[in-house]
Amino acid sequence: MIYDLTIIGGGPAGIAAGVYASRKRLKTLFITKDFLGQSSVSEGIENWIGTVKISGTQLSKDLENHLKAYAGDIVDIKAGESCEVVHTNTDGTFDIQTNKGSYSSKTILVTTGSARRKLEIPGADRLEHKGLTYCATCDGPLFADQDVIVVGGGNAAFESAAQLLAYCKSVTLINRGSSFRADPVTVAKLSENPKLKIITNAISKEVLGEKFVSGFVYTNNTTGTDVTLSVTGIFVEIGSVPTTYFVKDTVKLDQWNHIMVDPRTQQTSQSGIWAAGDCTDGLYHQNNIAAGDAVKALEDIYVHLTTK
Ligand SMILES: Cc1cc2nc3c(=O)[nH]c(=O)nc-3n(C[C@H](O)[C@H](O)[C@H](O)COP(=O)(O)OP(=O)(O)OC[C@H]3O[C@@H](n4cnc5c(N)ncnc54)[C@H](O)[C@@H]3O)c2cc1C
Repeated sequence: MIYDLTIIGGGPAGIAAGVYASRKRLKTLFITKDFLGQSSVSEGIENWIGTVKISGTQLSKDLENHLKAYAGDIVDIKAGESCEVVHTNTDGTFDIQTNKGSYSSKTILVTTGSARRKLEIPGADRLEHKGLTYCATCDGPLFADQDVIVVGGGNAAFESAAQLLAYCKSVTLINRGSSFRADPVTVAKLSENPKLKIITNAISKEVLGEKFVSGFVYTNNTTGTDVTLSVTGIFVEIGSVPTTYFVKDTVKLDQWNHIMVDPRTQQTSQSGIWAAGDCTDGLYHQNNIAAGDAVKALEDIYVHLTTK
């Protein structure tokens, strides 16, 4: 069979689109690796409009439940499935290849968000999950009373440091530049904590350790000297990369591999494919924006399908 629409990704953008697709009675295929949007690791989300405060886990569960409540026989949900490549056919339809099957669709909405940028220095890969981690909320409590570092200088890095300061012996924040991407008010607030040490102009060089992390080496960019810190935990918060590899030959991407979209409609450079949320070149990335942009895309997809 050929679906009217295939939605790829089960974060806030994908779910919002799925709910709208069901209401518009578009025969939809919904492919997602999981229902865990990026903020599912957050302890408390305070800006999901209409909800004063909610944990990331609960928000993800609520979103999944919302989709399932209205999916009926309109939205076919394929959870645990990962999209590998999208192919454009000569008649304008698309073939979607996943790790488990292949499907055909008249239109596609890409909502695959982004994933953590990895620390690419010797030892980082080998010692991941052995002291080096990308999630303070998930793994932080394992490092109670220990000396840890956070690599990064944005809001996420400071948010992680704030969580770790509650139970770690000391937290050292390693920032590449001399200034921070984080909000000045956040930096100022945390800087007052005596357990936090901030090191700037520090270029990450190596993660040390046999079976588990035992240290971290950085180069002082001002003096050119290498400095070794004795730590057992390394929390990496150096940004994210959009998950767009499966459409890299199908739609135009910007220099950071975000899908370029028309912000009025969320249409991509390829007729029949739309994108919404963190995988796009939209300037701002938030849960509410992802959901809103996906609804905008869905309205446009509906017009496209019904006026063709
Ligand atoms: C720690 C943290 C805290 C945050 N806190 C907030 C906050 O308080 N408020 C706020 O508004 N925003 C917050 N954000 C930002 C917010 O999480 C994102 O803007 C939002 O999740 C983007 O939604 P999305 O649907 O575009 O993508 P994502 O949430 O990234 O979801 C992508 C989905 O696609 C799926 N997927 C990925 N690749 C494939 C594939 N190949 N095939 C099939 N499925 C795939 C994933 O499994 C996932 O379900 C936070 C982000 C982080 C990292």
